[in-house]
Amino acid sequence: MNGMSPESTSEPTVFTRIVNREIPATIVHETANVLAFEDIAPKAPVHLLVVPKTQEYTDVVQLAAGDPALLAEMIDVANQLANDPALMGAYPLGQFRLIFNTGEAAGQTVFHVHAHVMAGKLQEGSLA
Ligand code: ADP
Repeated sequence: MNGMSPESTSEPTVFTRIVNREIPATIVHETANVLAFEDIAPKAPVHLLVVPKTQEYTDVVQLAAGDPALLAEMIDVANQLANDPALMGAYPLGQFRLIFNTGEAAGQTVFHVHAHVMAGKLQEGSLA
């Protein structure tokens, strides 16, 4: 096979493994290009992650440059989650923090771009 994409030559990230249903997650929303699920270690009362199904983009800067429509789709999904009373509980609908940690020094640990969608009080000393 020729023309291997960078995606197919690198190890699957933990989020790709969730997309492929190889490891479990509480999935809350799915579109053709985007998956949303609960963060396994929540740092706020509502803490969801929105990821593109592709792991081609390591961070939001790469994504914005390479596929701005996909970034817009992620933000639209984040907004849909934040308007779902079943996910937001008592927190005001449509009002949320959207955090993209970018780079190791900023706390990024998974190099597959993801948006933290959070509502309620953040855990002390945590930006996600
Ligand atoms: P940080 O770990 O500092 O928040 P990131 O911004 O890279 O760094 O975020 C990775 C997020 O992914 C973390 O909030 C972490 O709890 C979450 N996470 C890691 N593994 C899983 C998993 N298997 N299922 C759900 N969330 C996960």
